[in-house]
Amino acid sequence: MSNPNPSGNPLPQVKNVIAIGAGKGGVGKSTISANMAVALARLGHKTGLMDGDIYGPSMPTMLGIRGVPPQVREGRLIPFFVHGIHAVTIGSLVEPDKPLIWRGPMAHGAFKQLLVDQTVWPELDYLIVDLPPGTGDVPLSLCQLLPLRGAVVVATPQQVALDDCIRAVGMFRTLNAPVLGIVENMSYFVQPDGTVADIFGRGGAQKAAQNLGIPFLGELPMYQELRVNSDAGEPLANFQGTPDLRVALEKIANNLVGQVNLQVLQAPQVKLNVE
Ligand code: ADP
Repeated sequence: MSNPNPSGNPLPQVKNVIAIGAGKGGVGKSTISANMAVALARLGHKTGLMDGDIYGPSMPTMLGIRGVPPQVREGRLIPFFVHGIHAVTIGSLVEPDKPLIWRGPMAHGAFKQLLVDQTVWPELDYLIVDLPPGTGDVPLSLCQLLPLRGAVVVATPQQVALDDCIRAVGMFRTLNAPVLGIVENMSYFVQPDGTVADIFGRGGAQKAAQNLGIPFLGELPMYQELRVNSDAGEPLANFQGTPDLRVALEKIANNLVGQVNLQVLQAPQVKLNVE
C-alpha cells in the first residue's frame, strides 16, 4: 500500500511511537511493554500496543487473547481493545505452537504489514512497539518506517545482560532513535519474611544508564504476582492486588511520559500529529 500521507509519516494519527527493546530475550521486555501500555492508558492516554516480537510473540498469552480471532474489516485488522488498550499481535495470525522462522526481508515485510499497512490504528497518544530481542532487522525496519519518539531498553542488572543492553542502546543511537531511558527489571526480590534478596545485582542497569548518559526510568523488582498475572492474561491485576507492584509500574510510566515530553520540547520538528 502506498503511503497515504504526504508528510512521509504513515501513521499520522499516532502522536508518540515508542519502541521497547532489549539486548537479549527473557529480560522482561514484553512484560514491560504490556504493563507500560496499560499504565499509560490508566493515566488517561489513548494507547496502542503492537507485539512486534515476530519470533516469539507473547502478547496473546499476556493479554489473554490466545486463540481469539482478530476482527478484520476490508482486509485490514482492527486492533483488539483489551484492558483499556488497542493491541495487535502477530501471534493471532500464525499457528501458536509452530516455530516462527523469518528471513530478513520476510521479517521486515511481516513487521511492516502489521504495523503500518494492514492495521487500522485509531488516534493514539502512545503506540508501544514491543520489538524482538537483540539488534536484528526489525528495529532497523521500525526506524525506517516511522518517526520514533524514542526507544526504551529493558535490562536485568547482571553484567552479562548489561553488555547486551549497552549494545541495544548503541544500535538505537546508530539508527538515530532517541533513547528515552533504561528500565531495570528483576532488580531484586522481597522474600516472604520481608528481607531483600539481591539476586542479579540491583542497581547495575542504573549505573549503566549513568555511564551511557541516558535517563534511568526505574526499577521493577521480581514479583510472583506479575508472572502469574502475565500467564493468566490479566495485566490490570498488576495495578490492583499488590500496591508495591502498582507503584513501581506507575513510577516507570510517569518517568517515561516525562522523557517523552522532554523529547517533544527538544525535537519539535518531529511533529507527528497532523490535522
Ligand atoms: P522478554 O520479552 O524479554 O523475552 P518476558 O516479558 O516474556 O521477557 O518475561 C519472561 C518471563 O519472566 C515471563 O514469564 C514474565 O512473566 C516473567 N517476568 C518478567 N519480569 C518479571 C518480574 N519483574 N517479576 C516476575 N516475573 C517477571
